[in-house]
Amino acid sequence: MNYQHRTNDLEAFWMPFSANRQFKKTPRMLVSADRMHYRTDDGRSVLDGTAGLWCCNAGHNRPKIVEAIRAQAGELDYAPAFQMGHPKVFEFASKVVNIAPEGFDHVFFTNSGSESVETALKMAIAYHRVKGNGSKFRLIGRERGYHGVNFGGISVGGIVSNRKMFGTLLTGVDHIRHTHDLARNAFTRGEPEHGADLADDLERLVTLHDASTIAAVIVEPVAGSTGVLIPPKGYLQRLRAICDKHDILLIFDEVITGFGRLGTPFATDYFGVSPDIIVTAKGITNGVIPMGGVFVKSKIHDAFMTGPEHLIEFFHGYTYSGNPIACAAGLGTLETYKEDGLLTRGAELAPYWEDALQSLKGLPHVIDVRNIGLIGAIELESIPGEPTKRAFSCFLDAFERGILIRTTGDIIALSPPLIISKAEIDQLIGTLAQVLKDSI
Ligand code: PMP
Repeated sequence: MNYQHRTNDLEAFWMPFSANRQFKKTPRMLVSADRMHYRTDDGRSVLDGTAGLWCCNAGHNRPKIVEAIRAQAGELDYAPAFQMGHPKVFEFASKVVNIAPEGFDHVFFTNSGSESVETALKMAIAYHRVKGNGSKFRLIGRERGYHGVNFGGISVGGIVSNRKMFGTLLTGVDHIRHTHDLARNAFTRGEPEHGADLADDLERLVTLHDASTIAAVIVEPVAGSTGVLIPPKGYLQRLRAICDKHDILLIFDEVITGFGRLGTPFATDYFGVSPDIIVTAKGITNGVIPMGGVFVKSKIHDAFMTGPEHLIEFFHGYTYSGNPIACAAGLGTLETYKEDGLLTRGAELAPYWEDALQSLKGLPHVIDVRNIGLIGAIELESIPGEPTKRAFSCFLDAFERGILIRTTGDIIALSPPLIISKAEIDQLIGTLAQVLKDSI
């Protein structure tokens, strides 16, 4: 057999959502991490301005989480997820619903944000069916929405690159308009003034399709992946009211906003608007072990708990739903969040964060700076015909200078771990200011 030894070969791994060829010419390798910093293979320390991918809210290498995983792996590594239970999954479910917004008393576990989205969409359609409204099957998403990469998620999502290559997608899906309006809202601190009326677009779709065919609307309270789109004041309230009027379920995709990102446990708490289903992942285990959770109110859960007891109520689930090691990581994460007060720490830091970010106004090519909680975005004017080049060159330069930022199109997004200090905010924003001055 012609066996080739390929230990350091970069070719085998097809990297997700990456410019593979660019990366493999000049790889950027992270080899360890502790609290606010990554370390690279050439020994440099890099300040994490993105909490990994919006997930390591408590920072890295947190002892309670590491220990919980170690202990669980030696005790019960895996248990069948169907028709069997184990104590950790019930313990974690009870504890995590305790920090969920009021009324969200049940959680269905998945392994990622994408799976949580699919679960929520299926739940919404099935809910109407068990209630005797089987004609309510249509799903409404929003332009510029990101709901993961599976077929349901890219169908309700509104990002052309995620949609155009993949055929016909799901049928029975439509979209309301997005809320991004630089002409009226550029350089807003927090929630923009203009655009609440864009929620009325849902009424247009009700007129087009009829409410009797619409199961649910899914939106991110704050859209992250398309460049941090903050809801205009009153927008989410208006969406809720229209859903109520037409018996349409409202799903909040809180994959990035869940677990403290806005300075409240969930965006639902921050905006004071309560959806029917909340989709989560990432921060549920501090990003350390893959996991997601779909939180539902009793009205949804209980609708399924009818019929003969020996029958499966919801024909859905994953081999790794409620995996013991993921649950242990989740329990360690909740303890860490509690000990460090992280679910509300963002509220204390937000004013400092806001001032630091808004100081970038006026730098070359910066056409907007926006912020909410511990999220920030800097939108750059694109070079004609090259809609990602400016921000990506900033990303490369920033990494060389020791900060990790994230870009989407020509927007730089920041979402540091919630343990960040004021000095580290200064370092992050100060370095970014230099990058903006020098590299584009
Ligand atoms: N929904 C939202 C709002 C997200 O931001 C993401 C991931 N960035 C997802 C869903 C998908 O999560 P995952 O990558 O874990 O599948």
